[in-house]
Amino acid sequence: MSVANNNVPITPIVRVALAVPLCRLFDYRTPPEDTLTPEDIGRRVRVGFGKRSCIGVIVALADTSELPVEQLKPIEAVLRDTPALPADWFRLTEFCASYYQVPLGEVMLSTLPAGLRRVDPPKARVARRLSKPRVAQEAPELNDEQRQALEIIAAAGPGFHAYLLHGVTGSGKTEIYLRLIERALAAGHSALLLVPEINLTPQLEARVTARFPEAGLVGLHSELAEAARTRNWKAAHEGRARIVLGTRLAVFTPMPELGLIVVDEEHDASFKQQDGMRYSARDVAVFRAHQQGIPIVLGSATPSLESWANACDSSTPARYSLLSLTERAVIGARMPAVQRIDTRSEKLQDGFSGVLLRAIAGRLERGEQSLIFLNRRGYAPVLACAQCGWVSRCQRCAANLVLHLADGRLRCHHCGFESRVPRLCPTCGNQDIQPFGRGTQRLEAVLAERFPRARILRVDRDSARSRKQWEALLERIHAGEADILVGTQMLAKGHDFPRLTLVGVLGADAALFAADWRAPERLFAQLMQVAGRAGRADLPGEVLIQTQFPEHPLYAALVRHDYPAFAAALLEERRQAGFPPYAYQAMLRAEAPQMADAIAFLATARAWPRVAEHADVMLYDPVPMRLARRANLERAQLLAESLSRRALQAFLSEWNGALESIKAPSKLRWHLEVDPLEF
Ligand code: ADP
Ligand code: ZN
Ligand code: ZN
Repeated sequence: MSVANNNVPITPIVRVALAVPLCRLFDYRTPPEDTLTPEDIGRRVRVGFGKRSCIGVIVALADTSELPVEQLKPIEAVLRDTPALPADWFRLTEFCASYYQVPLGEVMLSTLPAGLRRVDPPKARVARRLSKPRVAQEAPELNDEQRQALEIIAAAGPGFHAYLLHGVTGSGKTEIYLRLIERALAAGHSALLLVPEINLTPQLEARVTARFPEAGLVGLHSELAEAARTRNWKAAHEGRARIVLGTRLAVFTPMPELGLIVVDEEHDASFKQQDGMRYSARDVAVFRAHQQGIPIVLGSATPSLESWANACDSSTPARYSLLSLTERAVIGARMPAVQRIDTRSEKLQDGFSGVLLRAIAGRLERGEQSLIFLNRRGYAPVLACAQCGWVSRCQRCAANLVLHLADGRLRCHHCGFESRVPRLCPTCGNQDIQPFGRGTQRLEAVLAERFPRARILRVDRDSARSRKQWEALLERIHAGEADILVGTQMLAKGHDFPRLTLVGVLGADAALFAADWRAPERLFAQLMQVAGRAGRADLPGEVLIQTQFPEHPLYAALVRHDYPAFAAALLEERRQAGFPPYAYQAMLRAEAPQMADAIAFLATARAWPRVAEHADVMLYDPVPMRLARRANLERAQLLAESLSRRALQAFLSEWNGALESIKAPSKLRWHLEVDPLEF
């Protein structure tokens, strides 16, 4: 061991985490001209790896390595442009690596903004000048329910507590978050506010900034330009930004003095990352709060059943405290009246019932807005020839090509393949090929024909491809530039449209009987959300649901705005079926050009000899995925399940190692997903 000038012992070997798919760290030598001390643990370094250079994070300093020191490469550079990553960030990434079965280096590097992961980041432009802090906007006076909720949180004192804030849309949940942030700031803490991608709008940023103009709020989301994201992340890491408002990736932001985490719309599927490290930002947030000993608030009008069970399942000790806001905060604002329209007894006109059409006409006369909700974009889900049976199939997926008349394309929603709309049937030459079914574009066309003077605006992923387009659309809606909105779930989320008094729901029945057992949970959440758009203080709202199953308990609960009853019924079903949250799952997926190869890989994984030692874990048979082919790859999956999270974790950490040594064709890819949401 050598000794530095100031008598701090230094060690020559630097252990570095790199973003490579290997479960190990890499040793380097300290360059002769540099001196590293334990304070440098958590700094980024540039190192040579193979023939290239890459960025890593110093995880430890050591005296010895498997190789003699002389054979180790020296570090190319220690990057001192940001403070070292802190110990709590290490613990958080270590937890994720172990829980989600991802190599530590991949976790660590993937949580950093791209600008800090690159060997030669683009020159940062001149930093944005911060606008002058304004005078803080005043908070409204709290109502009784809000006050009660805040008192419960205050009474619990410091330390880890998880709260589930259940409140209907407009019940003042955001106001609660703001009050909690206020308290955290006053105590010298910073606060992390996580929202779904689509809810992170300039309006929300403005609302939080207006309340805390001095807190240096920064936003962190995937559509920020690289330089801006790096700048914002640094501001948080260095403690200059006391509030971070971000989407799922922001959960990893190192923040000194973090004192509060809020996850708004905690049930939202966008908190789940679907590739790379497949993590749930909500779950990671709860872990982080626990680890740092701070409160966390999960808010939703329709909590995930996982969270609801943690708060309300009487059969297990409550892990979360339930806080309820049952009424809209603005005085006089009522919940909209929800009605079912029985479509069995009525002939629909281009998909619309007479009741719904008359309701729209009434809104047009009164200068109010209507919203037609259909969770299917495009003009029609398929184009078909009645003469020979041809249908527009994707050549690369086990799926249909969706007709997009707006730009004359057939498009696959799974792989992005597209082609021109044929004029004739490609197999028999028939000129009369027909669209089947309906998407938002078709509804838009139908409404334009029926209400020629109405201004109709369609909002879906086709009309709002980028955040910019989405925000432009929102602005037009707010400016009152639309009489009828037609849209998918994009429209359902977190926005107040002042003159919107009617919501019509089409095509919801499909989700009642979908093969995915989580579909009803998602449908209920979507419908609650979209219903929440209707009605303000002075203009009561109405929701009309077209259905062939008006007696279905899901719709009945919706009419009563009764999430708790619906959740209790679903939880009981889940318990009897042994589904999550009463079981813990992990999914092993494989894809390959040949289905047989994918299945064979999974079968080998299933036949791992030591499975028998994990009696608490059940492995199902390998099966093709529901979308069995995507982008020319055949896909299959194998479910692992246990009643004990711990048992499943113990199994996975051994099994994952065994999977890596299975010999598979070179084109086969596999991954493991812990707590999968989609099947
Ligand atoms: P949520 O987040 O539950 O949708 P918000 O906090 O956004 O609800 O509140 C909905 C509306 O009610 C907002 O316009 C907000 O300013 C207002 N509001 C919230 N709390 C109060 C209150 N105590 N008194 C009056 N208005 C309130
Ligand atoms: Zn044909
Ligand atoms: Zn496709």
